[in-house]
Amino acid sequence: MATKRDYYEVLGVSKTATQEEIKKAYRKLAVQYHPDKNPGDATAEDKFKELSEAYDVLSDEQKRAAFDRYGHAAFAGGAGGGSPGGHDPFDIFREVFGGAGGAGGAGDIFETFFGGGGGRRSRRSDGPQRGGDLRYGLEISLEEAARGMERELEYERLVGCKKCSGSGSKSGSGTKQCRTCGGVGQVVSSRGFFQVQQTCPECMGTGQMISDPCGDCAGSGRMKERTKITIKIPAGIDEGSRVRFTGDGEAGVRGGPNGDLYVVVQIKAHDVFERDGHDLHCAVPLSYPIAALGGELSVPTLQGKANVKIPAGTQNGATFRLKNQGVKHLNADRKGDLYVHVKIAVPTKMTQEQKDKLSDFAKVLGENHSPMHESFLDKAKRFFV
Ligand SMILES: [Zn+2]
Ligand SMILES: [Zn+2]
Repeated sequence: MATKRDYYEVLGVSKTATQEEIKKAYRKLAVQYHPDKNPGDATAEDKFKELSEAYDVLSDEQKRAAFDRYGHAAFAGGAGGGSPGGHDPFDIFREVFGGAGGAGGAGDIFETFFGGGGGRRSRRSDGPQRGGDLRYGLEISLEEAARGMERELEYERLVGCKKCSGSGSKSGSGTKQCRTCGGVGQVVSSRGFFQVQQTCPECMGTGQMISDPCGDCAGSGRMKERTKITIKIPAGIDEGSRVRFTGDGEAGVRGGPNGDLYVVVQIKAHDVFERDGHDLHCAVPLSYPIAALGGELSVPTLQGKANVKIPAGTQNGATFRLKNQGVKHLNADRKGDLYVHVKIAVPTKMTQEQKDKLSDFAKVLGENHSPMHESFLDKAKRFFV
């Protein structure tokens, strides 16, 4: 095995990074190098595995302490010497979201995930084969993400053929040797000077052909079917999170297990709130008189609205924090906060009476300045003499 990189270096964090920083760095990089986003890119896949391994260690205080003391040697002793803890890098999100739920469908973006067996899955040519994984892009609102939600998804997937019980054969047993590959499952073709061995395209590597193909599935043993399932998305889910629903992907072949369904959550931009982790931010206009005199300001929240006490002399851009009005933590009974940023609104259409009164006010205001004015004048006085 090549020299391993330092786990801190892999995640790009310092040795003193907090768990929050480690998690943040990991999630950012995991999204970047995730196999979904880099189909067929082996370098990205390696990077992704390396990341998962680094995170597996650094996110666990005990393992992290061992790593700090002994480096990679801390984990080298075990059988196989592989990644610490035998963490499956493709399962990262499941542990975060705790799997199991329903699933359901509404015709969003839908595509085959990992191409149903191409690539990393080694397949025995005649043994059972796991069904392909599917991914479903689900767009939800910020409110739904914050509260959690249930949704019925409807999608098309390959299920076992009911007529032939998945055997592909009318009689249930009719197979014969494949004529193209002579039952080997592989064919050899010449490309220039090279001879290339590949999976037989006729029998897909099984070496067998169905002699009496089932009429419903044309011998494949599987058929497309629209499926409806109801899924639960947990409160606090973040943009780009993947929730896995075990067994809701495509049917396996020859008794192999079903693939899984991955629901990838996208959160629609919100008109009022901007999300930053568990916190929310919003900008609210504040009239000049209330800013100057103090008063109450009605502000929007995810639940409806709330009143904020504005102290006299509030400046433009002042921020007020409303505790527990943010987004729920995914795995904890805690909520983030809502930050209200006030923007002093200058009136644009004024009546004559309003203008007159404001002019009078300006006259009596005179040199009565705000703290901001004073510090500015102090710094800039050489320009005014
Ligand atoms: Zn063949
Ligand atoms: Zn059939």
